[in-house]
Amino acid sequence: MNADIAQQNRSQAQSLIDALSTPVLSHFIDGKNYLRQDGATISNRSPVDDTELNQTAQGNEADVATASLSSEKAFESWRQWPAEKRRDVLHAIADRIEANAESIALMETADTGQPLRFTGKTATRGAENFRYFADLCTRASDGHSYPTPTHLNYTMREPIGPVGAITPWNMPFMLATWKIAPALAAGCTVVHKPAEWSPLTATLLAKIAFEAGLPAGVLNTVQGLGHEAGSALTQDPRIKAIAFVGGTQTGSRIMAQGAPSLKRVHFELGGKSPVVVFDDADLDRAVDAVAFMIFSLNGQRCNAGSRLLVQRSIHDQFVERLIQRAQKIRVGNPFDPAIEVGPLIHRNQLTKVKEHCFNAVQAGATMHCGGVSAVSAHLPAAGNWFAPAIVSGVTPAMDIVQQEVFGPVLAVLPFDDEAHALALANDSRYGLSTYLWTGNVGRAHRLARSFQSGMVWVNTEIARNLSTPFGGMKDSGIGRDGGDWSFDFYMETRNVCIALDGHAIPKIGKL
Ligand code: NAD
Repeated sequence: MNADIAQQNRSQAQSLIDALSTPVLSHFIDGKNYLRQDGATISNRSPVDDTELNQTAQGNEADVATASLSSEKAFESWRQWPAEKRRDVLHAIADRIEANAESIALMETADTGQPLRFTGKTATRGAENFRYFADLCTRASDGHSYPTPTHLNYTMREPIGPVGAITPWNMPFMLATWKIAPALAAGCTVVHKPAEWSPLTATLLAKIAFEAGLPAGVLNTVQGLGHEAGSALTQDPRIKAIAFVGGTQTGSRIMAQGAPSLKRVHFELGGKSPVVVFDDADLDRAVDAVAFMIFSLNGQRCNAGSRLLVQRSIHDQFVERLIQRAQKIRVGNPFDPAIEVGPLIHRNQLTKVKEHCFNAVQAGATMHCGGVSAVSAHLPAAGNWFAPAIVSGVTPAMDIVQQEVFGPVLAVLPFDDEAHALALANDSRYGLSTYLWTGNVGRAHRLARSFQSGMVWVNTEIARNLSTPFGGMKDSGIGRDGGDWSFDFYMETRNVCIALDGHAIPKIGKL
């Protein structure tokens, strides 16, 4: 571990933040930094030591209205752009994201506490999102044809209008690009409201896009609080749809707020994804994947495999291997490239994670490793540190098994046979992902059919393929992202029916 490099990275991040946000991190509307004279601000604080990173503009209804109006005006021309021209500007944005990779990684680490080793890939993944949808631009409006002997029906798609994107704090830049790139490719304009705990790279992204040639007003960013700027965006009548990534409860609120203006919604919500490990699996690979899917990104990932269901015959041995692995994970300053788990994003998040573990132990569970007491005394006391924890001896009804902890905490339950594994896996209000580890092909297909989740991953950690449908069932979401599924959300499908002449038209009022 290298304290000097960490210190250098931290200083460099602060210089970049100061350059972007002095005196205040502003909104970006109509191709310009935008601030009201009388606007309130939010203090954005470091997860490492609680020092202030910057002040952020606290957008209100008037700011959202300004941004929405700008997006509505820009839509009329943007939707008419030839698809090839849209494709080229999206590629130019991807180029510029890649050119800013280091700044994006440093700011994202400062904002979220995610280790540099993960945020270092942020720009690449964000650029991939733009490139993937850039290449689909020319097919976005394609439809289908349905010929019959008497009629020809054909469909076409057109952009729905200005849309709102509301994103969370766990992977802010990547998730913003995941929502914004398909919307722009479809010909929509976007008002983006990022999370108040991680505002930095959103304003940066809007600037990058504008500098890369995106016309003013096509991507506007309004900073602020969820119940203020976020709520206003969901109610603005100019905004035709809301693409939301965040908590399940917030999703319900957004649906209610958007009801009077009949907002189309797409929700990527919370999860409590099970990892089901049978004794016939490749256990070496399973240990790697289980540890990665719960402890990487500080456990703050929607697709975290946070419920381990392991066959009783291998339970003790498998859990022991995981404990040994968890204890070796390097927790510390996220600016140090050797660090694997950094601080949680916010004090409230730390409190929530601690409470989940405390309550489980009070109810009779065993916490084998991790937590606050396992954190090095050399780390700043004001940081939100929590070392990777494994909790066994839980029961299916406990909160730690049923609720999304959103931190580096793995709850473990044994199962006896396939039916028991399936029942435990599906015993959840959530249905985002299920991870299955088995060497039995028939069982893999059988269970994959029966798991109640939008995505099933067999003998693998999450493996990104932008053409596949990404999204959850039950309380984990509504709708799918990826490929054509994204376009179906951001576009209206219209049908034209043409008679091929000569068919019998029903007659009334004629003898
Ligand atoms: P959150 O729901 O608290 O906030 C998400 C966003 O919604 C923020 O920008 C917030 O300001 C805004 N918001 C809050 N209240 C609002 C309101 N009334 N109207 C409009 N906007 C409002 O979520 P979070 O704590 O930022 O993120 C963590 C959650 O996100 C977890 O539940 C996680 O599972 C989920 N998530 C899901 C996915 C997925 O793909 N399914 C991906 C990442 C994160």
